[in-house]
Amino acid sequence: GSLINGNSDSPVKLPTIKFTRLFINGEFVDSVSGKTFETIDPRTGEVIARVAEGDKEDVDLAVRAARQAFDDGPWPRMTGAARGRIMIKYADLIEEHIEELAALDAIDAGKLFSQGKAVDIPTVANLIRYYAGAADKIHGETLKMSRELQGYTLREPIGVAGHIIPWNFPSSMFFMMSAPALAAGCTMIVKPAEQTPLSALFYADLANKAGVPAGVLNVITGYGPTAGAAIASHMDVDKVCFTGSTEVGRKIMQAAATSNLKQVSLELGGKSPLLIFDDADVDKAADLALLGVLYNKANTLKCKGEICVAGSRVFVQEGIYDEFVKKLKEKAKDWVVGDPLDPRSRLGPQVDKQQFDKILSYIEHGKREGATLLTGGKPIGNKGYFIEPTVFTDVKEDMMIATDEIFGPVMSLMKFETIEEAIKKANNTKYGLAAGIVTKNLDVANTVSRSIRAGTIWINCYFAFDHDCSYGGYKMSGFGRHLGLEALHKFLQVKSVVTPIYNSPW
Ligand code: ADP
Repeated sequence: GSLINGNSDSPVKLPTIKFTRLFINGEFVDSVSGKTFETIDPRTGEVIARVAEGDKEDVDLAVRAARQAFDDGPWPRMTGAARGRIMIKYADLIEEHIEELAALDAIDAGKLFSQGKAVDIPTVANLIRYYAGAADKIHGETLKMSRELQGYTLREPIGVAGHIIPWNFPSSMFFMMSAPALAAGCTMIVKPAEQTPLSALFYADLANKAGVPAGVLNVITGYGPTAGAAIASHMDVDKVCFTGSTEVGRKIMQAAATSNLKQVSLELGGKSPLLIFDDADVDKAADLALLGVLYNKANTLKCKGEICVAGSRVFVQEGIYDEFVKKLKEKAKDWVVGDPLDPRSRLGPQVDKQQFDKILSYIEHGKREGATLLTGGKPIGNKGYFIEPTVFTDVKEDMMIATDEIFGPVMSLMKFETIEEAIKKANNTKYGLAAGIVTKNLDVANTVSRSIRAGTIWINCYFAFDHDCSYGGYKMSGFGRHLGLEALHKFLQVKSVVTPIYNSPW
């Protein structure tokens, strides 16, 4: 692969960094300790800015503000329509700052600018509008009870939510987690990943400008074991939502259990299979397989393998296997890696040195375990964290590259003969986030979709996300759903109200 270095002649203006402090109770403030940490540009490995390092004391202040905003403030008490109107204003303000936000995610997270501008940030605005539209449609049921009673249920906001966010989609994740909570009438503390704190602080400012009341949306930048852990174990947080690694998910659940038994939802790792059957159009299937692990297509989000639902295990039926491998090798060359600000780039750098090293060590492991490197396998350039799109063939199911979530542009290719074998291999993982099926045969598609234990099945497509369509994990990929009304219901709890009817013996 070749590296485009569009830095110098890039038409994109580098954003000025306006917000680097914590956002608590409607104001930007320093951390109690006064400490800051560096956020790094993955294109160069250089420091972009120093950002306030929040810790337990800061989380305490933010939770106090959120608690008060929930217990006494207007947000949960106003009509859903009124919350919806503020959220729509919020979405409009985000849309007015698309370029600046896309540029922030490009330099902070290595996300392609063109993509952020055309897809990620506009999608975020529409996601907020989707939940704004749901805010006045939250209702319970009327119950005809068996005795002389009548009952109804209320859906009430769960209270103070804590959102712990990963770095792979700083903007999308911020709102996949906070927008349904806002619509529900919750108040919240958001902790962005330490690698990508910048856009989150920008969103805090825009929330303020949109009229989200003080204390409703607080942002604490900082590290996981300090700020993140303080949220998970806080006695006054009612719900913690986490998206990230399975190991940390386990810690979040433990912290919730040993503190106040707060509700937990977890969206964790994946090792999703893509099953390609003999009747598939090989050319299209090869495109889909590359898309599935590199995640880059017009009108979808993009992400250099750094996505939990990546189709990183590709199973191809034997009749088309050889032809498929040939096509894949040719097509992988089109995936030009380069500066995310350059419109010619199809893949940006990995987010940080740690990820970069981890991915390269998996690649080395794959080679040592006896898999064949079909293409890629090396870092690119002499600065920043760029890696070639990498495909392994001759992968055995028990090799680490086939079992572990790599979170990078690395595909493991395997062969199968029958449908039963395909299903068995696809399910041979501790994860269950998503799966893809490529076939024209309806019976095959139906059988496989029902047999795979995963939260999303894409038939003849991949990464086909929509606001309306929830996604989340089976098995060790977690529980609770992002997107759709399922995500709104995560932030609501049901109260039953019962009263005797007229003339009853009560
Ligand atoms: P990844 O492995 O993809 O970097 P992590 O699961 O480590 O993802 O991180 C996702 C988010 O969880 C980040 O915001 C990180 O700061 C936070 N985090 C990491 N460790 C902990 C922890 N012990 N408690 C709470 N949050 C944590």
